[in-house]
Amino acid sequence: MGRPDAPPPRSAVFGRSMGPPLPVAVGGDGCYLIDARGRRYLDGSGGAAVSCLGHSDEKVRAAIHAQLDRLAFAHTGFFTSRPAEELAEKLVAAAPGDLGHAYFLSGGSEAVEAALKLARQYFLEIGEPARHRIIARRQSYHGNTLGALAAGGNAWPREKYAPLLTECSHVDPCFAYREQASGETAEDYGRRAADTLEAEILRLGPESVMAFIAEPVVGATAGAVPPVPGYFARIREICDRYGVLLILDEVMCGMGRTGTLFACEQDGIAPDIVTIAKGLGAGYAPIGAMLASRRIHSAIAEGSGAFQHGHTYHAHPLSAAAAHAVLSRLLDDRLLDAVPRLGTQLADALDARFADHPNVGDIRGRGLFRAVELVADRETRAPFDPARKLHARIKAAAMEEGLICYPAGGTVDGARGDHVLLAPPFIITEAQIGELTEKLARALDAAIA
Ligand code: PMP
Repeated sequence: MGRPDAPPPRSAVFGRSMGPPLPVAVGGDGCYLIDARGRRYLDGSGGAAVSCLGHSDEKVRAAIHAQLDRLAFAHTGFFTSRPAEELAEKLVAAAPGDLGHAYFLSGGSEAVEAALKLARQYFLEIGEPARHRIIARRQSYHGNTLGALAAGGNAWPREKYAPLLTECSHVDPCFAYREQASGETAEDYGRRAADTLEAEILRLGPESVMAFIAEPVVGATAGAVPPVPGYFARIREICDRYGVLLILDEVMCGMGRTGTLFACEQDGIAPDIVTIAKGLGAGYAPIGAMLASRRIHSAIAEGSGAFQHGHTYHAHPLSAAAAHAVLSRLLDDRLLDAVPRLGTQLADALDARFADHPNVGDIRGRGLFRAVELVADRETRAPFDPARKLHARIKAAAMEEGLICYPAGGTVDGARGDHVLLAPPFIITEAQIGELTEKLARALDAAIA
């Protein structure tokens, strides 16, 4: 890929960014990515909470090679495959509640899209065809396909494509730092936030509402925002009271990222449908999954007998073999056990470095899913002027430092203010946590200056 000191070449790839050329990634080594010039970048965000095992896991690589030597592809219209069956069994055995069946897709948006269609089909099968409306939360993101985009609560990514295909409305995001009133307890705020769902169901008419979708710990749109205690228990109660399906989107916060395999385990609830993706393939293969309750599965099995959905590459054997190996690494090799301890180390390091920083308003998260929120004024919590595009400046400054982190925000509607999401691999060491924090501090100072 050219001389080590050559600038990155102009790209013929139709990239996301049409700005200056991006560095060319050529290798991975544990928690580091290496570009064509030989520069090493500490992966402080697992890309976007993807690479939970780092970039050179021997066992996952061996599992993909072994599967490739046996079988690459068998169309799901004709066959199931051993890796898909084994992965489904392992996921279902570890899942909370009644989640008894897994359906595999190629990524997070496809998983959300399939979940929304499954919910719709469930109500058609049980003779409640009027239930078609989706409720989500403000300041949320559920994917980039048209249905998932409609569910997302941030106006800016969706409005320019309006009208979208699905009807969706948005309720309180349960974002304590931004929404909890002064003098209000966390419990009272949680109840108030959850009750906005009930009010919306009643406004729309319960007989027309199909599902409520939310991320247990909000990822990219708000920055590792955990719910306040009791919030999801009340959400579960409200969904049950009105016969509305609860879909939890764990595409980003699932697969052990918050310290338990499913983030919702820490809130003591189970959804009717859960979506997972990023950490499932851990970057080694494109795969997402939707886990559905036995109740939904049997309504369809005993009704029309088929879920009217499918993609050519769903349940791909190579992806399933990779994800099965990832899950084995987390559960059987017990890498998941390290997440709470490493998460506390990361939280302590961030607190020590940023608690007194004049522009850090909040440091939050669970497990190895953490964020710092940046404010122009700590007292008033006023965000930076979005026109400064602080998140983009932080990303560029961090790349200069050799750090991959995930800054987002910058729009006052929806994503209020700027934050930096951190989601490093579960194999990060204490020394690398120190390196991450120092590089982030330098990047923040360079970007804010
Ligand atoms: N849901 C959530 C919560 C996400 O964070 C994302 C990706 N950022 C998606 C869905 C969409 O996943 P994908 O990019 O794999 O389509």
